[in-house]
Amino acid sequence: MLDRRVLDHDVTVLVAPRLESEGFLVAFSERSGGVSDGPFRGLNLGLKSGDDPDVVRENRRRLIRALGIAAFACPRQVHSTNVVRVGPESAGMGFVDPANGIPAADALVTASPGVPIAVLTADCVPVALVDPAAGEIAVVHAGWRGVAAGMVRAALGAFANPAGVEAVVGPAVGPDHYEVGEDVAAAVSAASEGGAITRRERSRLLLDLPGTVARTLRNLGVRQVEHVQECTACQPERFFSYRRDGRTGRQGLIAVRLS
Ligand SMILES: [Zn+2]
Repeated sequence: MLDRRVLDHDVTVLVAPRLESEGFLVAFSERSGGVSDGPFRGLNLGLKSGDDPDVVRENRRRLIRALGIAAFACPRQVHSTNVVRVGPESAGMGFVDPANGIPAADALVTASPGVPIAVLTADCVPVALVDPAAGEIAVVHAGWRGVAAGMVRAALGAFANPAGVEAVVGPAVGPDHYEVGEDVAAAVSAASEGGAITRRERSRLLLDLPGTVARTLRNLGVRQVEHVQECTACQPERFFSYRRDGRTGRQGLIAVRLS
């Protein structure tokens, strides 16, 4: 179970308490607490979402202050399987200026204490991977394209001992809101150990992408997989959703090794 915490300025996050007790902050942001307006209303963290960048920067500052952490590093997300390892030299890259971010990657991994890393989503699946014994932590952005390309396996490949990894699968579009074509389901299935989790409702094919990611992690040897089961499209007050709104903001998965 994750704790839901309402922090300064009503900034609200879902935190993994067990990982916190092991020295790792893993937090999924919600929509409340920000200063964005219109379709981006709330704590929009996406500098390239179409929102006013100054407002997004203020949202980002509110989030890190509320969490009591330094500026996070984030990549330019491209639905790839690129995993980039970062150290202290990458601290805060892309936090103020996306052009100064970590180039073309959809997962970051670090063993450096005090170097927060983040990925942004609005329906895609955010995944945190932590190996407490190795002191390593990763954040992963996995949409259907990334999953179909093998992102889950690629991200886990950054860890020497998958059995020692604890995973958290965060808020993402749920199967009730994720109708896909046969080609998408087949591509996701082909790249997922155990196949894709789908169901049919009359003529509609519904894909459970976060459920598929969680099961794939288990099938790849991860023993502890926490799946929060919150559908972004179902909850407009709590989450941004591209499927639901098109023009919208981004929530974040932020993770840091605390010491
Ligand atoms: Zn839903």
